Amino acid sequence: MTGTVWLDDHVVAGHVALDFCNTVYRRTPELGAELLDSTDAFYRWLIHVDLVAPTAEPVKAATLRAAVDLRSVLWKAFDAQRAGRGIDPAVLARVLAQARRGAEHVVVDPYGAITASATAGAPAALAVASLQLLLHPPTPAIRACDGCGWFFVDTSRSRRRRWCSMRTCGNEHKVARYRAARGER
Ligand SMILES: [Zn+2]
Repeated sequence: MTGTVWLDDHVVAGHVALDFCNTVYRRTPELGAELLDSTDAFYRWLIHVDLVAPTAEPVKAATLRAAVDLRSVLWKAFDAQRAGRGIDPAVLARVLAQARRGAEHVVVDPYGAITASATAGAPAALAVASLQLLLHPPTPAIRACDGCGWFFVDTSRSRRRRWCSMRTCGNEHKVARYRAARGER
């Protein structure tokens, strides 16, 4: 096994397309380490989020490259939506093009849940899943973690979620506040 070990704290967004966007250590304030750091890591992520069956064939290098390309396009799309701007037609065109490449492997169940019947179809499945959110933005809207920029849909009752996870960014903030209150740096 090579690459990232996936934990529940990597799957906090409330939608697989956003969890996919969150496969870097951080997006803000500057781009952090790549978590899809090997074909094996991407393969295990796909199984971790139930996008492919554990019996699926390994991920090819070209599939990982397509996925990483798609992810950079999705960042633009969801950042635009989050900021209240429309999606750039050039960005939408790239999502649609990726949705078509491998579409024969995309499986949509009667409840709208999307999976891929082969790892080669994973980027297409992720593109289709992203279109769900782009064409039908969720209520409440997509937000980004104040700490690391990971996207999430805020389904908390108070609608005041600020962090990707209380165990990571939320906890860092609490510790920083505690230190500030004690006059430490
Ligand atoms: Zn965060």
